[in-house]
Amino acid sequence: MIRRKARSWVLLAFLVSTFGCATFEGGRSFNILSTQDEIALGNEVAAEVEQQETVLDDTAVQSYVAEIGQRLARVATRQDVPYAFKVIDAPDTVNAFALPGGNMYVYTGLMKLCEDEAELAAVMAHEIGHVAAHHHGESLTRAYGYGLITRILLGEAPNERAQVVAGLLGQAVTSRYSREQEREADRLGMEFLFRAGYPPDAMIAFMNKMRAEEAKEGGGRWLPIFASHPPTTERLHLLHGLLAQYPPDLVAASPRYADRYQQHALAPLE
Ligand code: ZN
Repeated sequence: MIRRKARSWVLLAFLVSTFGCATFEGGRSFNILSTQDEIALGNEVAAEVEQQETVLDDTAVQSYVAEIGQRLARVATRQDVPYAFKVIDAPDTVNAFALPGGNMYVYTGLMKLCEDEAELAAVMAHEIGHVAAHHHGESLTRAYGYGLITRILLGEAPNERAQVVAGLLGQAVTSRYSREQEREADRLGMEFLFRAGYPPDAMIAFMNKMRAEEAKEGGGRWLPIFASHPPTTERLHLLHGLLAQYPPDLVAASPRYADRYQQHALAPLE
């Protein structure tokens, strides 16, 4: 364990001195978290999530959502984490988030806002994008610094470790990512969506629903997902730009699976 850490320090020093400015360009921070540590931390946070929230007691709905997730995970650019998907029973909460290491939680309130399978897949693809781009490790490294993270991972700072787990939980639930990270998750998410055979414009369809919710009298419901910056209108603009890179005939021909979604998700959640 200690030997492995020592090696990663050497590697880090090398990367920082060699690629310095390029690596940090655009406010991006470096990721010090190894995949193994990321998975371990993520599992700790997942245990917290499942203590605080109610996992939906419906195996058919759970496996339907997990299948959508695995279809996307198979085409993701990151394959070294065990992606897993669970539905949280919270009909009034429009949220979904991925934890470090690939555990994802989708709330029934979000599922009810989606009109078809492609829209749900769009949200899930975006969340996989955060995992694929190592955003959790980046955020952790930025928030706590190399020194503290290393001590935590070496088991030298148990109190701080608990703090990090709590912080990760808070970050996940409130979707606290940087503007740069959101853009990257949108770009990757749209790509995964397309590779999995879903229409990439389903991401735009869902974002329009978010905007409609936001515009409702009194600000509508509190929407943790996508509630962070950049604003929805700006993201819609960016998503339209991304969509233009995909062949229109393929986009139009990709199925949205509205009937299947009605049968396997909306009807059981009534
Ligand atoms: Zn996001």
